[in-house]
Order: sequence, then C-alpha cells, then structure tokens
Amino acid sequence: MKISPEEMRRNIGFRPTDTFADGVCHLIGGLGNCGVVETDEGLVIFDIAIKSFGPKIFKDLREITDKPIKYIIYSHGHFDHCFGFAPFIKEIKEKDWEMPEVIAHENCVKRFEKYRMLDRYHIWLNDQQFAGKLQFSAQTLDPTIIIRGNEKYSFKFGGLTFEIYSEWGETDDAIWLWLPEKKVIFSGDLIYSFSFPNVGNPYKVQRYPKHWALAMERMMEKNADYLAPGHGELIAGKEKVKEQLSIIAEAMNFVHDEVVKRLNEGKWFEQIFHEMVEIFPDKLKNSPHLLPMYGCYEFAIHAVYRLYHGWYDTGNPTDLFPAKSADIAKEFLKVADAAQFLEQAKKTIEQGNLQLALHLLDVIIKGTESENIILLEALKLKSKVLKQKAHIETSSIATNIINNGVLELKPKIKELKKKLKSQNL
Ligand SMILES: [Zn+2]
Repeated sequence: MKISPEEMRRNIGFRPTDTFADGVCHLIGGLGNCGVVETDEGLVIFDIAIKSFGPKIFKDLREITDKPIKYIIYSHGHFDHCFGFAPFIKEIKEKDWEMPEVIAHENCVKRFEKYRMLDRYHIWLNDQQFAGKLQFSAQTLDPTIIIRGNEKYSFKFGGLTFEIYSEWGETDDAIWLWLPEKKVIFSGDLIYSFSFPNVGNPYKVQRYPKHWALAMERMMEKNADYLAPGHGELIAGKEKVKEQLSIIAEAMNFVHDEVVKRLNEGKWFEQIFHEMVEIFPDKLKNSPHLLPMYGCYEFAIHAVYRLYHGWYDTGNPTDLFPAKSADIAKEFLKVADAAQFLEQAKKTIEQGNLQLALHLLDVIIKGTESENIILLEALKLKSKVLKQKAHIETSSIATNIINNGVLELKPKIKELKKKLKSQNL
C-alpha cells in the first residue's frame, strides 16, 4: 500500500494543530512534530522542528498563545527536531525575554559536535535520503541542561510535573517526556504514528531495536491517555496508545530475537535476511501501525545484524579482498557478450524478476569498454526497471534511493544517445 500524497502531507506536518489534555497540550506539525505544554508561567516546547519549518511552527504557536517559552526539550538531536529555532530566538530578543532553558541528553551534545565536523557530508547524505527536498543546517541552539547516562530528570513548572526519561532507539540520545497530571507522553521519534520504526536506515549510523522495545515497555507502564509522536498524528485514548506501543515492542523484539537466534546458528547475512523475510508474521506485516512508509522490516534486519556483526558478512573468502566490480563485469562479458546479457535481462523482466534483471544489466553497464547501442539499451532498460520498482516501493527512503538511481542515469543516457547519433551508430 502506498500512502496518498494528501496523507503524506498530513504526516509531514501540514495539518491543523491538535489541542488536548484539557487544552494544556498542543501538537503542531512541522516535519518533526513540535509539542507544546501551556502553563500559567509560560510554555514548555518539546522539539522545535527542522530549520525550514521553523517559521511555520512559530506562526502556528502564536495563533494559539502569546506566552513566553521557558523550556525547550530536544527529544534527540536530529535535523528535524532541533533546528527550527530562529524565529523563536528573534522574538525573544525583540521582546527582551529571558532565554529559555534547553534540555537534552549528553549524547545530543556529542551529536551536534559530529554534525559540525561532518557538516558537508551530512548535507550530501540527507540530500540523498530526502531526494534534495529538505534544508539542513549545522547551526545549533545548544543545551543548557544536560541529562547524563540513563538518569531520569524531573522538574516542576507551572503547576505540572515534567518527567524526562533517557532511552536508546532511533538514536543514543533519545529522551521522552511524561506529564503525570495530564497522562501525556511526548515520545519523539520512538514513535512514528504512521510507519514502521526507522531502525535500519540504509544511510545512517547504528540504531537499537532491543532498546527500542524496552522503551515501549517503559512507556506502557505509564498507562497514558495521549501519545504525541515525533512524526504523524496524535494518538488519543488509553487503548489506542497501548496498541501502538505494544505492537512496536512486539515488532522490535521479533526482529531482534529472530536475527540473534540465526546468528547463534552460525548463519551469514544473506541466509538470515531471506529467512527473516519468509517468517515475517502476518500480524506485524498487516498492522496499520507498522506500515513500511519510512522505515521497514527489511531494513530492521540489517540493523540487528550490524549491531552484533562485523563488515565481512558473506562467509565467502572471495569477498574479503574483492576485485573492482567493473573488472569482474569485463570478465563476465568475455564469457557471454553484452547482447546475451541484455536478452537474459529482458527474459527475467518478463518473468517478473526485476531485481535479477538489474544484476544482469549492471554487468553490461559496468563492463562495457567501448560505447555502443547495447550499452544504451541497457542504461534505458535499467532506468525503466528502477522506475517500476520505485512505483511499487512504499518506504520513502527506499523510493528516494531508487529515484536517485534514475536521476543519475538520465544524463548518461542523454549523452550516449547524442554521441552515438553523431557517430551514426
Ligand atoms: Zn524525526
């Protein structure tokens, strides 16, 4: 099932603000959601969105209340949760208010240091993951209150208690907020209301499936009435909150424990991956809380394997010091020529196996030394196959990766067409 563009817009944050818990809490959409707790003494903000959504969440907030911001809490240090602060700081300066306290985990501080060290790399990386549609910045509003290790941090403000818990899940700097008097959880990215957790992102550093399950179990103990997720819509009602938390815990425990079992059986990645795909239970596969819209089950298998395993993952010594893939392809083309590979690729497409067709086409694309019409055919066919794959893919990360491939092929096809035409070939 592919998400409709309208539904995607709502999940991204283009939707009316939710007000809940006796009018005390608000959830403003801003790519990463912005949570607001309104008290007589001022506001507590839980996450402040991506830089480009800063003006949007500022405008939405100021339509609800003109109270000053006293605390900003970062659920974690990702780009879509703590970089939309500019309009808020501008207002604070204009009105001569005191700067708010900024609360984050110590690993968030380390993350910001990493972003500064790898700023251009992260822009490049995120351009790939989000198909160049988002704006990133390494300029931070740094924390003033830092939570260490797995300590619980709590404070009273405006007649309410704020309890903050540290976790590992999507990141190692995750914290979530519990308001006992209002029975509200602000979860950050430990919950995407519309998608399978982003636990095995192909581009990003290690994530933590088992810890993720434990975080869900700790949240369940609170018996919350409301769960305000890091992305997607508010979850309201004890039963719905419990359902969301328990199915994520079940999925994370399942993928973790089944990969671990297979590691203990001495299996290599390929076997583990394909066995895991076979045994994915219908209950999890069909759950509306685990739709593969952003993260997906297949990526999660990688996450568990990578958590416990080194980079040598095939068990085949051929792969320990591999030759260049272009050199391997050249050798294959000496055995059977490019026209035969192209013919076979077309056959596998007819048989419905797009993935095998890609492997065959890559032999031609990588191994052809002189430009010719077969190479042009192979490039065009690869582009067509990738478009077909993107069309049926549901995870936006996977779709963007495939579409990036199509974009890369476009100028190559154009240039080769031009060259061949000029040579009258
Ligand atoms: Zn996020």
